[in-house]
Amino acid sequence: MMKARFWGTRGSIATPGPSTVRYGGNTSCVELRAGTHIIVFDAGTGIRELGNQLMKEFPSQPLTIHVFISHTHWDHIQGFPFFLPAYEPQNTIHLYGPPGRDKSLDKILKIQMDSDYFPVELGAMSPNIHIHEMREDVTIDDLTVRHFYLNHPALCLAYRVSDGHANVVYATDNEPYQGTLFRQSQNPSTASDFPTYLDEKFIDFLSHADLLIGEAQYTTEEYKEKRGWGHSPLESVVRFAVQANVKKFALFHHDPMHDDDFVDGMVQEAKQLTGLYNGTTECVGAREGLEIVVP
Ligand SMILES: [Zn+2]
Ligand SMILES: [Zn+2]
Repeated sequence: MMKARFWGTRGSIATPGPSTVRYGGNTSCVELRAGTHIIVFDAGTGIRELGNQLMKEFPSQPLTIHVFISHTHWDHIQGFPFFLPAYEPQNTIHLYGPPGRDKSLDKILKIQMDSDYFPVELGAMSPNIHIHEMREDVTIDDLTVRHFYLNHPALCLAYRVSDGHANVVYATDNEPYQGTLFRQSQNPSTASDFPTYLDEKFIDFLSHADLLIGEAQYTTEEYKEKRGWGHSPLESVVRFAVQANVKKFALFHHDPMHDDDFVDGMVQEAKQLTGLYNGTTECVGAREGLEIVVP
């Protein structure tokens, strides 16, 4: 059994205020408890509250926490300097993620805590912080964590955690290749249709996931103005989830311009699209505090 809990569901920038109070204003952070393992997807501003909760739950027990970072855009790393368990020397924190375009992951995380930006340097946190650039899949006892490169204006990874029974996929900040890559042929069934081929690889990665935590940044209509920004129209995320036979899709990484009522509307639209594609995928809106148990 695995249990996901959402601590930050917003994309791009933290968006507190009365109009986002239901889905939440903190940026990307999801906790996944798998047996005794503590997995975290992304270190957006939501990770601050997660850290406070872990300190309360385990006041003296040394912890090992595995943080998988999708990419190093601010909304996915900005909370890490406020993650209190990372200051406790008895804790071990493994940070995994892709490198930057011309900098190592280690360097990017250190720059974020350079004294020009933050009063405490990364080196002053727990000595047991280990930074791993994701080169191959990771095994943590009985868990496997696979990774997959997404289409985004930064090196960006999706992760798939499996305990041998249940599968959870975290895949945010991704744009379908269809429509953004040059298509050599108008016939999508030919081998020369590279964009379709790449999107099919992504659908394979989602295959039969019990839970997909996937982006819901733009409506299908909004996407027309945002092509090439590295995010999906809702239509394609739902279509891919249905094609991959995903059991549950949590709409995540809400756009800062989307208030609670707007996100409600997107969840309704996702449900309608699922019906339109004859799918059985259950769609829910990810909100701060929501827990989903899988399977
Ligand atoms: Zn983002
Ligand atoms: Zn991004």
